[in-house]
Amino acid sequence: MNALFDELRPLSVNDGVTEIERLVGSKPLAARPPSGFELHRIGGAVSSRSVHAAMLDALRLGVQF
Ligand SMILES: Cc1cc2nc3c(=O)[nH]c(=O)nc-3n(C[C@H](O)[C@H](O)[C@H](O)COP(=O)(O)OP(=O)(O)OC[C@H]3O[C@@H](n4cnc5c(N)ncnc54)[C@H](O)[C@@H]3O)c2cc1C
Repeated sequence: MNALFDELRPLSVNDGVTEIERLVGSKPLAARPPSGFELHRIGGAVSSRSVHAAMLDALRLGVQF
């Protein structure tokens, strides 16, 4: 269901774009923006994969290392 994502996309600071190189690389993710929010598709919203892949997406994007 993309309707919610499409509504939030223009309001997000990253326009709903996830930089794949940052997601899968070993470098720390950039610091959170001082205001606003980032919007990312993760897990089953990206493609059909295992629950482990969905949780790794969430961990990588949701936790500052
Ligand atoms: C038949 C089947 C068997 C599977 N077996 C395995 C297995 O054995 N091992 C394994 O690792 N993985 C398995 N998977 C894959 C696993 O189910 C998925 O990888 C995992 O559920 C993805 O989690 P998710 O949170 O990204 O998405 P989901 O679990 O799909 O959760 C998304 C949730 O968001 C809700 N939602 C969607 N749109 C909106 C909206 N606009 N507003 C509010 N809520 C919304 C949905 O109702 C849903 O509850 C299987 C998948 C299927 C279909």
